[in-house]
Amino acid sequence: MTSELINKRVPVLDKGWIELTDMLPHPNTGISGDLAIVNAARVSFLGESKGEEADKKLLFYLLRNAHTSPFEMVEFKFRVHAPLVTWWQWVRHRTWNFNAQSGRYSPFDESAFYVPGVWRLQAKDNKQASEGELDPETNQALMQKLLNHYEQGYALYQEALQAGVAKEMARFFLPGFSVYYTWVAKVDAHNLMHFLRLRMAADAQYEIRVYAQAIYDNFFAPALPWTAEAFEKYILKSRQD
Ligand SMILES: Cc1cc2nc3c(=O)[nH]c(=O)nc-3n(C[C@H](O)[C@H](O)[C@H](O)COP(=O)(O)OP(=O)(O)OC[C@H]3O[C@@H](n4cnc5c(N)ncnc54)[C@H](O)[C@@H]3O)c2cc1C
Repeated sequence: MTSELINKRVPVLDKGWIELTDMLPHPNTGISGDLAIVNAARVSFLGESKGEEADKKLLFYLLRNAHTSPFEMVEFKFRVHAPLVTWWQWVRHRTWNFNAQSGRYSPFDESAFYVPGVWRLQAKDNKQASEGELDPETNQALMQKLLNHYEQGYALYQEALQAGVAKEMARFFLPGFSVYYTWVAKVDAHNLMHFLRLRMAADAQYEIRVYAQAIYDNFFAPALPWTAEAFEKYILKSRQD
């Protein structure tokens, strides 16, 4: 089951995606992620698996009581393709390891810009958030202006490159928040839960929330079904209370 997750790519937003490139424990070992957590915890008593029921009970006990270090024994490595606005919010999570594409080395291509489906309106009671949508007519007109803006920015980028300007400077012409970037990112299950709790929440920006939800639905929950159940029970539920 977990082996099918490795190299699985899930589309996100209009041109983005996320894929799981590796995991610890690797599916080849035949040890599930949940069991790796339980086994790590049992080292405390120099023990090992005591059967499914007792193992699951122990895992729930660990998460309920914030005994988090066994969850750090499971790791996920992703490749992500997302707009720069998503990258900037993601890299605030210092417990991840990253390596990103270099816009100084590789030129951007014409289709490398995020085009949102709709324009969300400024929320009334939260200066950082959005709510509702622009009316369809204004939405379409403004979307066309965004496309024109991308086209113009990209044409200027090309003009600068053709004039011999270095890629590291020519990119000043590109619309900064919406250009798509690719990066690899590694995190352990404990810190991934922290990320998911914050970034799957309703107050997280949509453009990162959809990536967090894609991780949870497609990789985290299938790879760690017991942990996901405990996470929903003890962490997500307490967030909503
Ligand atoms: C809805 C939302 C709005 C936000 N708005 C803003 C904003 O307006 N401006 C802004 O700058 N940021 C903003 N952020 C980012 C936020 O402040 C955090 O930087 C980000 O969510 C990472 O959280 P973290 O530090 O808990 O995670 P990580 O960096 O992954 O750290 C995980 C945990 O490890 C511990 N830790 C890690 N590093 C240290 C350290 N050096 N010292 C002590 N403990 C450490 C902490 O317990 C931390 O919670 C926003 C985040 C969200 C979810």
